[in-house]
Amino acid sequence: MLEPPDTIIKTYRVPNAPSAEVTVLHDDLLHPVLGGNKLRKLDALIPALLGSGVTDVVTCGGLQSAHTAAVAAACAEQGLRAHLLVRGERPQIPTGYHLLSLMYGQVTYVPRSEYALRETMLQQHAARIAAEAPPDAKVSVMEEGAASPLACLGLIRLAAHLAEMWATDDTEAIIIVDSGTGTTAIGLALGAALLGLPWKIVGVMLAGQAEYYTQQQRALTDACSTEFWHEMMGKVAELPLEWVERLRPRSFGKVLPGEIASCRQVARTTGLLLDPIYSLAAWEVAVQRAEALSATGKSSRARICMLHCGGMHGLHGLAQRFPSDF
Ligand SMILES: *Cc1c(COP(=O)(O)O)cnc(C)c1O
Repeated sequence: MLEPPDTIIKTYRVPNAPSAEVTVLHDDLLHPVLGGNKLRKLDALIPALLGSGVTDVVTCGGLQSAHTAAVAAACAEQGLRAHLLVRGERPQIPTGYHLLSLMYGQVTYVPRSEYALRETMLQQHAARIAAEAPPDAKVSVMEEGAASPLACLGLIRLAAHLAEMWATDDTEAIIIVDSGTGTTAIGLALGAALLGLPWKIVGVMLAGQAEYYTQQQRALTDACSTEFWHEMMGKVAELPLEWVERLRPRSFGKVLPGEIASCRQVARTTGLLLDPIYSLAAWEVAVQRAEALSATGKSSRARICMLHCGGMHGLHGLAQRFPSDF
């Protein structure tokens, strides 16, 4: 139902290593708000909600959450009401993803102490919304980041789509994905495993340690096996998926000195728009791998790719936090 258009694929030369190149899978260009991995994650989720008669969706996120904005936009397009629980207080000037969330959805600000108990918060607000809604309403809760087996289906469809586009060549692909909950990287790796593709997915860990991501991988793989493919358990036991740190690790959401300038430099010299919290992390790993590959002289045998998951509206929120860096 959200049938995504074809991904635009562009190749970028690495500025300081002329023979190295990075292939960018431009999912960020698919939609102005849903663009990036959110559209992929909602590809099967929204039709499933519609199919089960849901009228109202409750989800949550931080102030500049791309997830809440995307869910609200997708719900609005399909005639569903989106109720967004946003951590913290209303800012003086809403911008970026928060502004978009306010345009497409119904926002409730939740104090940090209450937000810390996420499950309880979601259930309590869902009960309140159900009580206030018309009698024929059906309320459904969506986890933060939409980390669910249904979300993986959209990523598996992306894998099939890429496989079709690359059908005539059997070059190995290494696809680098900046990861929050890890759902995007895991879904893509599930697709590669199920379709038997010669790919490796590299998830850049941004929101937790390796244990968190291996736990997410196990939970999502098990849930997908149970829900969709009992007989494929063996095939997906070993995913072609590697978890790596970003080049300069830090706690999630932090921006280190010089990173906004790095994004600006990449934008000006290549035309590629990155943000320092998410996509810069994938770009840096991709550049490092492309340089290493070109140094071995084997660059024709593998394709270094970056899945551009979007995130550019986050720049507006960062400009409010760090005005003098822009
Ligand atoms: C939401 C988002 C992510 C995180 O995706 P996960 O599936 O939770 O790993 C990564 N990058 C960008 C730009 C995003 O908007």
